[in-house]
Amino acid sequence: MSTSNDPRSTLEYQEFDRRHHWHPFTDTRALNKKGTRVITRAEGVYLWDSDGNRILDGMAGLWCVNVGYGRRELCDAAHAQMLELPYYNSFFQSAHPPAIELARLLAEVTPAGLERAFFTNSGSEANDTVVRLVRHYWSLRGQPDRSVIISRDNAYHGSTVAAASLGGMQPMHAQGGLPIPGIEHIMQPHYYLLGEGRSEDEFGLFAARALEDRIKALGAQRVAAFIAEPIQGAGGVIVPPATYWPEIQRICAKYDVLLVADEVICGFGRTGEWFGTDYYDLHPDLMSIAKGLSSGYLPIGAVMIGDRIAETLIESGGEFAHGYTYSGHPAACAVAIANIGILRDERIVERAARETAPYFQQRLAEFRAHPLVSDVQGVGLFAGIELSADKRTCARFDPLGTAGGLCRDLCIQNGLVMRAVGDRMILSPPLIITREQIDELIEKVALSFDMTARELGI
Ligand SMILES: *Cc1c(COP(=O)(O)O)cnc(C)c1O
Repeated sequence: MSTSNDPRSTLEYQEFDRRHHWHPFTDTRALNKKGTRVITRAEGVYLWDSDGNRILDGMAGLWCVNVGYGRRELCDAAHAQMLELPYYNSFFQSAHPPAIELARLLAEVTPAGLERAFFTNSGSEANDTVVRLVRHYWSLRGQPDRSVIISRDNAYHGSTVAAASLGGMQPMHAQGGLPIPGIEHIMQPHYYLLGEGRSEDEFGLFAARALEDRIKALGAQRVAAFIAEPIQGAGGVIVPPATYWPEIQRICAKYDVLLVADEVICGFGRTGEWFGTDYYDLHPDLMSIAKGLSSGYLPIGAVMIGDRIAETLIESGGEFAHGYTYSGHPAACAVAIANIGILRDERIVERAARETAPYFQQRLAEFRAHPLVSDVQGVGLFAGIELSADKRTCARFDPLGTAGGLCRDLCIQNGLVMRAVGDRMILSPPLIITREQIDELIEKVALSFDMTARELGI
């Protein structure tokens, strides 16, 4: 066994990784050729790899390290809680202080009307819980046939069987016989891709009315809920037109369809508001949260349950036959409480909204002039930048992802983590990024775009 004082060489790590470690969302053949990148430590907005390279993390891990790396308070909270009570469950009429305290805190920070938290260990589990909960709710309301959940193409709701079914990712559906029955997908409000011939406002209404059309086609008496990310994250940071969400809200109310906001990325400050539902003034019946809830320091998620659903379950009595061994794990709850404490005490969300996010968006907008860039969209500390083979015609690369994959690799070479979704480059840095660090990030993006353009002859 090697100890942390005696690290292995990068080559050694890569060899063991190749032999024994199966990676999520990874082409193992391609990885084995290249060798994995081993991240060994982190501080603030920076990562270090096993070769000692410093890399600016433009993705906050996987959209989650909102307060940045190296916050000792979060580690201390976990440590203290594990000494006091490392584990107990919330099944069978028991609970413990951290779960109760976190639930109370979440009721306070989330929008009004969401007063109760059901804990999970991830965003996927939260969305699995959503499927169970909305179907159970309608069943208790005497409408068991109201079981269909409508989602959207190119949505991401997680990777368990139900969550991947809710998602609209074709490559995920293609493996394992998904989606499961009772889940429908409508078009996404992706103006850049689908808006041709319409103004942005017209397109927003058009995309929202796809929901009404589907509800009518299925019969409203069969539709349980509509689930959506306020802003699609993994799909490419797709900011819907301003007309979209008010129309969706109207349609859900008209047909009595539950509105589920998947806030796993948007939640806890990403948009410059605490939640995407605050940003768009939505009134969801259920809200999925994870990622920024603990800034990724420990795994935890939750479903925030609207009063109408909670009251129906309470009045009807009977057990909601669902839960996870680690629902409301004490250490994860303690970390989430400390994380929300940091976000609040240091006014991280408000400061980002006022000071750094406008600067971040302003600097990114400069890339509209870059020969490779055909679209820049973003809100808060969250952005997608579309690379195009011909920026006047918005021609796509063939094969798709040619520029994205290349640019992502060049970014790493230049000391920046930026994600590629096809040929759309994604940024979602820790909310504590400073103006100076934004300048550094922009400089690295510019260098990487220039190098990508040169290699592609654009
Ligand atoms: C990441 C993500 C999920 C899944 O969360 P996991 O913790 O990876 O299971 C669900 N919804 C959205 C919007 C996400 O971005």
